[in-house]
Amino acid sequence: MKRRKLEMMLERLEGFASPDPRLEQYSTPATIASELLYSALLRGDLEGTVCDLGSGTGVLAIGAAILGARVVGVEIDPSAIRIARENARRVGAEVQFVRGDVANIGLQNVSTVVMNPPFGAQKGSYGDRAFLRKATETAEVVYSIHNAGSEGFIRRFVEPCKVEEVQKIAFPMKRTFKFHTKDLQVVEVELYRIFCR
Ligand code: SAH
Repeated sequence: MKRRKLEMMLERLEGFASPDPRLEQYSTPATIASELLYSALLRGDLEGTVCDLGSGTGVLAIGAAILGARVVGVEIDPSAIRIARENARRVGAEVQFVRGDVANIGLQNVSTVVMNPPFGAQKGSYGDRAFLRKATETAEVVYSIHNAGSEGFIRRFVEPCKVEEVQKIAFPMKRTFKFHTKDLQVVEVELYRIFCR
């Protein structure tokens, strides 16, 4: 499938109905999701089982399934899971969405994790540590999106896994919460490929 086609399919998916700021519920924009997924596809990282940690409304999980992966999505919020299941059904993608907390879910035979974890920007948020910990203990390769300027922290935190690539991308964030002051704010983020083999 052409990348642009995947992007168009992902653009049509429903987002969060009433996003919870403590869970940092932002859907990954379709352009960034396709960037991450094609990067994984081209490296052969969608061939085994893929897990989306904090799968939200399912953009990354559904995109990976469309590109041929066997996919499990783990999400703490049941209302997000409902939307994700409906999204998958609408585009004919097969994804297993499981309710769970990434901090204590047991996952087996996962070769690749894809995730857009909470950045830890909000007080009381879980932050990205539990996500990075679970991802690196579970998978051989991890694709993850983080705040710009996280590289030093992430390199140290994931050891002995290695950060193989950091790609800087602009993340167009729509006004979602009351504390957002602009309709559209472009935030710079970093897309990481972390290698644990
Ligand atoms: N992966 C989706 C959503 C990203 S937002 C996308 O790319 O669009 C982060 C998601 O992580 C939210 O859906 C939030 O509910 C979920 N989340 C936050 N803390 C969690 C936890 N401890 N366990 C599982 N999911 C969690």
